[in-house]
Amino acid sequence: LGSRIAELVTSNLREIPDFPEPGVLFRDITPLLANGPAFRELIDLLARRYDGRVDAVAGLESRGFILAAPLATTLGVGMLTIRKAGKLPGPVIGVDYALEYGTARMELRPDSVAAGDRVLVIDDVLATGGTAGASVRLLRECGAEVVAVSVLLELEALGGRARLEGLTVESAVSF
Ligand code: AMP
Repeated sequence: LGSRIAELVTSNLREIPDFPEPGVLFRDITPLLANGPAFRELIDLLARRYDGRVDAVAGLESRGFILAAPLATTLGVGMLTIRKAGKLPGPVIGVDYALEYGTARMELRPDSVAAGDRVLVIDDVLATGGTAGASVRLLRECGAEVVAVSVLLELEALGGRARLEGLTVESAVSF
């Protein structure tokens, strides 16, 4: 996503070992959100990148919402919420995906997207790509065109990019 965005992310990142469970290094973007000038600059730079190319910004619950909402308003387009199971009132469509243990499900109200809409998908972290992959399937089921999956941080070893084959995946920083 460009060197300035990478700099904003890395200089405002907190890494927490063994959270939420042992063995996970949690990448916490809340210092970036708490830094007013840095957060504003991040959103302005993202808006410059996607200006004129998207009809909506889809945020993935829940930290994706924090990025999608200001980006959508800056671009002057709508924001879509793609949520975990059971959070959106119906009618919804859902896609299940595998986790290390068990499964998870993302849901979308199909009436929030029009066929042919160009949609940007945004989240804080791309790990296995399960969440983003399910979200892309939901949007495509509605006839939307996914312009890109954009994340601040990409954990390369977990193979998310491979799971999103054929899509444009843009990250600020990869580990
Ligand atoms: P995945 O579906 O495996 O790509 O996981 C992506 C979702 O889990 C994103 O919504 C992230 O917010 C969250 N996530 C996964 N791993 C981490 C991590 N190491 N630090 C922070 N968030 C993470």
